[in-house]
Amino acid sequence: PFDAMHIVDGVACVNVAKCTGCGACAAVCPHGVIEICSNTENKPKVLCNNTEKGALVMKECQTGCIGCMKCQKTCPSEAIKVTNNLAHIDYDKCTGCGACVEVCPKHVIVKA
Ligand code: SF4
Ligand code: SF4
Repeated sequence: PFDAMHIVDGVACVNVAKCTGCGACAAVCPHGVIEICSNTENKPKVLCNNTEKGALVMKECQTGCIGCMKCQKTCPSEAIKVTNNLAHIDYDKCTGCGACVEVCPKHVIVKA
């Protein structure tokens, strides 16, 4: 309702200047790809929503999370947990240090 969501080159992109965090987009996404988070400024994001096992991801996708747990083991704040083959960040614990970004072998975690 705020003209903040557009499809660019086949991918949903949010204009953060217009987004109010109302959650309307997350509510309608049939694949549950959109997550509403607060407290994420200057903190990395996991740009993957895949929950397939790593071997299949390696075969089918260049940039999908393979559930290797390197990020979880590296995080000094215990802010990342890999569940169901996918990394999740707890933004209440994350300090934005960027260690997970450096260690991810698939470049799934991005600090934008
Ligand atoms: S940025 Fe640092 S604190 Fe935040 S999830 Fe990554 S490793 Fe953990
Ligand atoms: S390091 Fe990267 S590929 Fe491995 S579990 Fe974390 S996000 Fe997934």
